[in-house]
Amino acid sequence: MIPNLKIDPQRLWDTLMDTAKIGGTPRGGIRRLTLTDEDKRVRDWFRQQCEALGCTVTVDEVGTMFARRAGKQEDAAPIAFGSHLDTQPTGGKFDGTLGVLAGLEVLRTLHDLDYRTNAPLELVNWTNEEGSRFAPAMLASGVFAGAFTRDEAYAKQDRDGVSFGEALETIGYRGTESVGKRRFAGLFELHIEQGPILEKEGKTIGVVTGVQGMRWYEVTVTGQDAHTGATPMYLRKNALLGAARVIDAIDAIAQARAPDAVGTVGLIENRPNSRNVIPGEVFFTIDLRHPDEATLDVLESAFRAALDSCLTPLGLTYTEARIWTSPAVAFAPELIACVREGAKAAGLSTRDMVSGAGHDAAYVSRVTPTTMIFVPCAGGVSHNEAESTSFDECAAGAQTLLESVLAYDRRLSA
Ligand SMILES: [Zn+2]
Repeated sequence: MIPNLKIDPQRLWDTLMDTAKIGGTPRGGIRRLTLTDEDKRVRDWFRQQCEALGCTVTVDEVGTMFARRAGKQEDAAPIAFGSHLDTQPTGGKFDGTLGVLAGLEVLRTLHDLDYRTNAPLELVNWTNEEGSRFAPAMLASGVFAGAFTRDEAYAKQDRDGVSFGEALETIGYRGTESVGKRRFAGLFELHIEQGPILEKEGKTIGVVTGVQGMRWYEVTVTGQDAHTGATPMYLRKNALLGAARVIDAIDAIAQARAPDAVGTVGLIENRPNSRNVIPGEVFFTIDLRHPDEATLDVLESAFRAALDSCLTPLGLTYTEARIWTSPAVAFAPELIACVREGAKAAGLSTRDMVSGAGHDAAYVSRVTPTTMIFVPCAGGVSHNEAESTSFDECAAGAQTLLESVLAYDRRLSA
């Protein structure tokens, strides 16, 4: 028989609002940079809350916290869920925090009803998701997944020259468990959407099927500086005109594959940038994103073809380089199915979506079955003190998380 387990929305909300005071800002946000005194305070509080529920809290060598609740089968791989308690310098009350505190609410609910899952459960607080004190972002989950080594993480420095390793020592969260040793049956991360789609479509739960791939490029177009008055139109090599045509082409390439594809030129430098000189050189950047690597390859070829077709007829030359990529992530179908089932059990409307932002879950998916659950945030605004998700939306996310975890537990033990 499936028990009727309901989270306590008021307790969840009060917990969100109370912990928001740790690093709380006058404008209603949170400033809780990773491995600072505020981070230590929220970590100490988190450990104490989990221990009060009978959980065992372990800290790994990069400070990630795992609160384990025993299952009926202690030798089974645990089902994990969580997110991050660190914030941006002017962060909101929900980014990351909701995923951890909704996870705590799941543990509290199970504890109150004395319900024991078959598999053990582990609530995770990843270190340095935001990357605003120590770049890059998602550092600890990256080490967990083998994208960086522990020592690479230790060596990262903040702007004051303090290393990540030193900062862990200072707040007493350099644990002893080797990173990535722990393995899960699966990981669920509840998070605010950080975009406008759910709100716009009036849907409550985003069933996240993956994280889109991202590719960055840099282009320099070269023509010839010349006098604007004395150079006839047919003799010009106008680098800015060429760049403008390429920018238009990139928009058309992305528009043709919208809404999944997005393409942006966001930075441009025009030289010499003088009103009476025909521009001789233009530098610009391109950001291409799509959920699927094969389509990203198509976008890339189309953009490269546009460079030739736009620039060569204007007598221009160019150099182009791909400078960064983040591969597309497809989440685990069996976990996605559990989220669908969970949202349905909670009576909530859903929409499939792909995350436009990076998350700890993206790294973790390299080593364990993983998925995410999104809830709306007002106006799609995040990384902002005004970030807002309603009482009901927070409760819906937590209930879906609970139902998803239970659905997965049933599947694993079937
Ligand atoms: Zn986040």
